Amino acid sequence: MVKETGFYDILGVKSNATPDELKRAYRKLALKYHPDKNPTEGEKFKQISQAYEVLSDAQKRELYDRGGEKAIKEGGTGGGGNFASPMDIFDLFFGGGSRMHRERRGKNIVHQISVTLDDLYNGATKKLSVQKNAICERCEGRGSRKGAAQMCMSCHGTGMQVHVRQLAPGMVQQVSTVCHSCQGQGQRISQKDRCKACVGRKILRQKKILEVHIDKGMRDGQKLVFHGEGDQEPGLEPGDIVIVLDQREHLLFTRRGEDLVMSMELQLVEALCGFQKPVQTLDNRTLLVTSHPGELIKPGDTKCVVNEGMPMHRRPFEKGRLIIQFSVVFPQANFLPKHKLKELERYLPEKMDAEQPESMDDDLYIYADLEDCDLENRKRYTHHQHYYMDDDDYASTGGVQCQTS
Ligand SMILES: [Zn+2]
Ligand SMILES: [Zn+2]
Repeated sequence: MVKETGFYDILGVKSNATPDELKRAYRKLALKYHPDKNPTEGEKFKQISQAYEVLSDAQKRELYDRGGEKAIKEGGTGGGGNFASPMDIFDLFFGGGSRMHRERRGKNIVHQISVTLDDLYNGATKKLSVQKNAICERCEGRGSRKGAAQMCMSCHGTGMQVHVRQLAPGMVQQVSTVCHSCQGQGQRISQKDRCKACVGRKILRQKKILEVHIDKGMRDGQKLVFHGEGDQEPGLEPGDIVIVLDQREHLLFTRRGEDLVMSMELQLVEALCGFQKPVQTLDNRTLLVTSHPGELIKPGDTKCVVNEGMPMHRRPFEKGRLIIQFSVVFPQANFLPKHKLKELERYLPEKMDAEQPESMDDDLYIYADLEDCDLENRKRYTHHQHYYMDDDDYASTGGVQCQTS
């Protein structure tokens, strides 16, 4: 049992979630609440990030499970209660590169697209409209007419201002800050020379339509990177656009690696005597799932059809298995008149005889009828157990009597 579930609740998962389930939950929420998409949800974005940071680390997760958030804050493991910045967690997860790397490049743009299991099975092409910063074409990113920009006199074109601070007599410290006059641009453009298209900002918001090719066998959460299609900034290499596939649940099939899993309900007669049942595949073929007379399916049995699972990514002619989990529906009570049941009994394997001494007197038995019982309300049970002794044998006839109203 875990001490508290707060972090699990933030991610919307159960406390026994697998690492994959945690990743999936983080991915969905982080994209939804990223400040780019939801500028007012900064706090929520931070919480999601912290919950994921703890739960995705086996050691921290164990600490949290045992001692709750308090244990994390007190810091049983190295880093103590210091959380990484939500943006760093996000970039690490979505492959934004390290911070050093990022500073010389424009920002990456991460987008999620919703795909169906059919798309991942058959392959598909999706169009996606993306907003990004692009260098203004009219002024080629200068922000003004050619030659109109003048060097900023406050910083002499460096974009930085250096202040000297006296700490103690004879001891000074140099502090550099971004130049206020030019916001670090190192140049100034007078109002009248500003580029009309970008108003001197050098960049424009631009809409771009991306064609996303989804290959057969790709997975939920898979990333497709469009190199150099991210935000542009003058003097920097453009960032990337990262597209994350988000698979919607399928009504019939659940994917497990390369396998597809489905459940199938059989009537008792089908389970015993064989059946043929059609299953519509994701590429619209009809499989006739067949159990021949003489084969038998028990409730809870799992069987598979080879080569009818998901295609493998980059080897689409190889496929996983279609795994079928069976349940068996028994007939209604009194589906046969009593005298016919005797007939049915003749065909079924013999009953196992209860071991009972021949000479046993009838009145030593207590007949225990079965009633429906409500497992939710355990407390309302009354348990009766009756024992009888027979020489050295010790046997019991136990009856559970349930009150069901
Ligand atoms: Zn311009
Ligand atoms: Zn300046």
